[in-house]
Amino acid sequence: MSGLPQLVHGVLSYGVMALGMGLVLRGVRLFCAEPLEWNWVALIVAVPLALAGYFSVVDPSLRARLSVSGFYFGALCWLCAATLLRHADWRGVGISALGFAMLGLALCARGAYLVLYPLPPPGQGALLLDASLLATALAQVCVAFGMVMMVTRRYAVQLRRLSTLDPLTGALNRSALEQQGGRIAARTLHGGRSLSVVMIDADHFKQINDTHGHPVGDEVLRHLTRLLRLELRPLDLLARYGGEEFVLVLDGINLAEAGGVAERLRDKVAQALVAIDGHAIRYTVSVGVVCSDEHGYDLLRLIAVGDAAMYAAKRAGRNQVVCL
Ligand code: GH3
Ligand code: MG
Ligand code: MG
Repeated sequence: MSGLPQLVHGVLSYGVMALGMGLVLRGVRLFCAEPLEWNWVALIVAVPLALAGYFSVVDPSLRARLSVSGFYFGALCWLCAATLLRHADWRGVGISALGFAMLGLALCARGAYLVLYPLPPPGQGALLLDASLLATALAQVCVAFGMVMMVTRRYAVQLRRLSTLDPLTGALNRSALEQQGGRIAARTLHGGRSLSVVMIDADHFKQINDTHGHPVGDEVLRHLTRLLRLELRPLDLLARYGGEEFVLVLDGINLAEAGGVAERLRDKVAQALVAIDGHAIRYTVSVGVVCSDEHGYDLLRLIAVGDAAMYAAKRAGRNQVVCL
């Protein structure tokens, strides 16, 4: 039984392999937010077609064809590995990068062997060629597994972000506050430290929306979030509790210290001039502060009492801090 025509197995098959590698490289670059234009993919396919054509028709040499294609596909694999390793979250892409690097090494070793030594006669093997074949198979499994892992991990991170963060401000949402805040409460209770909760509500926020429009109101909320973030230390939490109401959960801070944080915040907000789309806006906040030393470590109770303190600040004329 005769095999495939020379044009197919000697030339076209290299183009098909190159198309596969070009698509993989394009996918890897898309994953890393560095898109690869289609004309680069076309070039990746054209080069081995030309080389294989040359070593099949002009200067026929199976050894040269195998050697050059080994180096070429090896280099493409290393390009994939390098692209992934430039990616910031290297933990998510480590297995694929390792797979691509191994595959590149195996293919280049094969290419180098064929430069140095003749092809073994049919039916006989060569240790390095056989080992590189085994390494290629292993590396391909590694690449496939790693790519599934990296996509899964990316979706897991995005889902976690969507389910815990408020999309407008990037602060924690209410359910994440209750979960993560509960953990902080347990941690401070066991550590014998104070836990303070600061409730912050923008004053007359409806007027800002009514006067300047909702998008400007949104920008004011982002501005307030940025100021609040400046008060956070690594163990603290910031959450958006409702429309224009935010919560700080402060680990190891007593009532007097939390009152100081709140007063500094109130003052910063009152001094800030927010320039948005040609509007220059001033706004103020009313703040309620409570601490576990007076009210215990139940987070929901601290939030409820903090809310009452914040409403007391509203009744006292707004732009105030009330500690309970
Ligand atoms: P007070 O000083 O008593 O807190 O008055 P206020 O106007 O701030 O409070 P009120 O509860 O009357 O109004 C809150 C407003 O916040 C009404 C609502 O439209 C607005 N709001 C809630 N969420 C958002 C949001 O995501 N973006 C914008 N732009 N506005 C929001
Ligand atoms: Mg308000
Ligand atoms: Mg409110």
